[in-house]
Amino acid sequence: MTSESTPLIGAIEAGGTKFVCAVLRGQTQIIDETSIPTTDPVETLKSVIRFFVGARAKHGPVAAFGVGSFGPLDLDPNSQTHGFITTTPKHGWQHVDLIKPLKTQFKVPVAIDTDVNAAALGEYLWGAGKGCDPLIYITVGTGVGGGVIVNGHLLHGMMHPEIGHLIIPPPPGQGAINAACQCPFHESCLEGFASGPAIMKRWGMRAESLPADHAAWADVSDALASGLANLTLTLSPMRIILGGGVMHQKHLLPLIRAKFQQKLNGYLQLPAITRKVDDFIVSPGLGDRSGLLGAMALGEGALRNGAASA
Ligand code: ADP
Ligand code: ZN
Repeated sequence: MTSESTPLIGAIEAGGTKFVCAVLRGQTQIIDETSIPTTDPVETLKSVIRFFVGARAKHGPVAAFGVGSFGPLDLDPNSQTHGFITTTPKHGWQHVDLIKPLKTQFKVPVAIDTDVNAAALGEYLWGAGKGCDPLIYITVGTGVGGGVIVNGHLLHGMMHPEIGHLIIPPPPGQGAINAACQCPFHESCLEGFASGPAIMKRWGMRAESLPADHAAWADVSDALASGLANLTLTLSPMRIILGGGVMHQKHLLPLIRAKFQQKLNGYLQLPAITRKVDDFIVSPGLGDRSGLLGAMALGEGALRNGAASA
């Protein structure tokens, strides 16, 4: 339950096109919110700080921050560069420290994770992933990325999951103006076929404008179904949530489910795969709010852990 004594948390969803910043009291009360275009890091982070300084004057201090960011990120708490964006292809954003500007200004705990891990956490706590463990959240948007909950925790290890670059068999690409995988690193990866920009390059039209019966969707669903089959076989999830702009195409989810079943080809005789696939591969319960609310949950976690050194 949220009450006046519930601390304010600063949440940041740091994306390649915009930084959504909000002050929340629990997951239900958004006290203040803004969206800041992602320009160069200095200017963008200055605007972020300015928003939270203004919010402090209006609403009082936040007790902690949670950041869900595009990556790749250094999430090793023992690393000198913990909380840095690392090798992103996004111009100017390599080796940018997302934690220090907040800590220096506000002197409260700051937790950071990938945007998709944050979204996975939001969905696990309050959305379509409640009670599902392991849980996978995948976004299909400007990029493809995924976050994973295992045993109630976000999955980390040597790095964080990089589900967008799962190596998959190329979809047929019949009729594409450029059938090749559009990832600059890989010959045949999920993002290279299913991201919004990949769809645009392969078919010559924005994903938003492609009609539901266009051949592009057979390809996109084939690529995603391959990825989901591999993830199911590897991680044994209880549910997979698909979000992001491309998934706004409502006809896509049923196509993906059907191809997913075809790819597994009867190997897994489990209700979730055979009869109840509609409950296994689902849309986000929090709409486009999974990442922001997940970032808030990261902030709450930082506060609980007193992660002043987070
Ligand atoms: P981001 O990934 O930048 O956080 P989105 O998840 O909104 O943002 O993804 C943006 C991508 O999704 C763009 O490439 C865009 O073409 C695609 N997209 C957005 N809306 C739709 C839609 N209704 N149908 C298909 N594609 C869409
Ligand atoms: Zn790739």
